[in-house]
Amino acid sequence: MAICQNDGTMPNSRRLGAGGGGIGATTSDEGAMTENPTRIAVVGAGFTGTVFAVHLLRAIDRPVEIRLYDRCGNFGRGLAYSARNPHHLLNVRVSNMSMFDDDPQHFIRWLWRNEATDGKVSDIPPSGHAFVSRATYGAYVEDVFHSAVREAEARGGTVIRAEDDVVDLAAAADGLVLRLADGQAVGADRAVLSVGNFPPSPPFPLDPALTESGRYIGDPWEAGAIDRIGPDDSVLIVGTGLTMVDVVLDLAAQGHRGPVHALSRRGLLPHRHELTRPYPSFLDEKAPPASLVQLMRLIRREVRAGAAQGYDWRSVMDAVRPIVAALWRGLSNVERRRFLRHLRPYWEVHRHRLAPSIADRIDAWRAAGRLVVGAGRIDGATFEDGQVRVIRRRRDGGSGEPMAFDWMINCSGPECDYRRIGHPLIQSLLATGLARLDPLSLGLDLTERFELVGPANRVYALGPPTRGMWWETTAVPDIRKQCACFARWLAEDIAAGA
Ligand SMILES: Cc1cc2nc3c(=O)[nH]c(=O)nc-3n(C[C@H](O)[C@H](O)[C@H](O)COP(=O)(O)OP(=O)(O)OC[C@H]3O[C@@H](n4cnc5c(N)ncnc54)[C@H](O)[C@@H]3O)c2cc1C
Repeated sequence: MAICQNDGTMPNSRRLGAGGGGIGATTSDEGAMTENPTRIAVVGAGFTGTVFAVHLLRAIDRPVEIRLYDRCGNFGRGLAYSARNPHHLLNVRVSNMSMFDDDPQHFIRWLWRNEATDGKVSDIPPSGHAFVSRATYGAYVEDVFHSAVREAEARGGTVIRAEDDVVDLAAAADGLVLRLADGQAVGADRAVLSVGNFPPSPPFPLDPALTESGRYIGDPWEAGAIDRIGPDDSVLIVGTGLTMVDVVLDLAAQGHRGPVHALSRRGLLPHRHELTRPYPSFLDEKAPPASLVQLMRLIRREVRAGAAQGYDWRSVMDAVRPIVAALWRGLSNVERRRFLRHLRPYWEVHRHRLAPSIADRIDAWRAAGRLVVGAGRIDGATFEDGQVRVIRRRRDGGSGEPMAFDWMINCSGPECDYRRIGHPLIQSLLATGLARLDPLSLGLDLTERFELVGPANRVYALGPPTRGMWWETTAVPDIRKQCACFARWLAEDIAAGA
């Protein structure tokens, strides 16, 4: 089952929001006959919310009013692409970073054009095997958004960006009501939740002394989070994935010289990208393997067969990528849980890879002993005699090794269990039943058309909160596809006055 049929049409005759009955604007509010444009509230205007708005403006042939709310004001860029450190590079080749699935060269052309206006000679090859900074990518998203808005405004549409925190969302007799942190109430006909990733929860109950010490950094993405770390301080990073790599790059940028230890259960580091040639597709998305064992057997077989013909394993992984959602949808919840328990760490390090130049830097730091990456479990941490103290338990058992550091940073990955997210909007959506968790608590429960399961309410979700439905929902290629598909459905729906 694909996220969206290739032509973007509805998989069946049921339209978005059907069954909404009295909820939402009336037909005359939304239909072509009306003077009042449909009011669409986008909660979270980082990357996903912005890409959705661009796709909707492209897809719709009548004026709409889109209000994009973002509490941080990182419009378009969000968490990922507001990075200031120029060493934070994309972890996906530019060839796969277009905002448009149907125009894969769009970002490459933008790069060529914009580098040319700077008078620089572009070194982006036509193959797109290059990794530019995330800040550059943020500039691309912003530029495309502004062009789309200019065109839409010329056609009578309205796009409003508001730096506001949406703290509540409720169904009302004539639509939806969003409540903002300053107490203001704003009406909408449809709402799209593109709230992104939430910071990690503590990996274990925190010793109050550690919390008070300020030496535990719980949100590695918070601006200035690591500024207080002295150049010779010792640092323990919990997690060995891409966020850990980002933090190490930030430490390096502020002249850090002290020892850095990174620990995770298995101590796996993301692999590096290599220049590869495409491997032919070998899985049928209409008949995906029903079990993980079957799937892994097939992938291993292809990796062996590919190697015999000179293909790198990465080519085989990349051939799987476009149909991951179909594979995930083909597994039972029992199999999905098995994947999360046993395979997820291996999947992550093979699938989400490092730009080669970043991988070189990490290798150099490890070789010089500046970064130590290890496997082990930490069940708790205390703060004594001015240091963070932990016991590291190795996977092979043993008594545990006491370790002490000046700082501890939690890079264990975003919190996906919405019951543990304290933001008032999330709490309120769960409390009122407007939203509920997906069966694996990876995000929100949705229909295949991105509508929240619950009272038919015309509230939808895109991006990371849809992880339970599609699994791969964080990288640009997956998000742009979701946004394009949903935007086309929504445009059809609005045009039909549903
Ligand atoms: C550090 C990092 C690097 C990445 N690098 C790459 C890469 O190189 N290539 C790739 O393909 N993918 C990458 N990704 C993955 C991916 O592109 C992102 O996860 C994607 O940007 C998700 O966008 P988003 O808009 O859903 O979330 P975000 O960008 O986090 O935006 C969500 C926004 O919602 C706002 N918000 C949340 N709740 C509310 C509320 N109640 N009211 C108002 N505003 C609210 C927040 O302020 C935030 O700005 C990266 C991700 C991260 C975190």
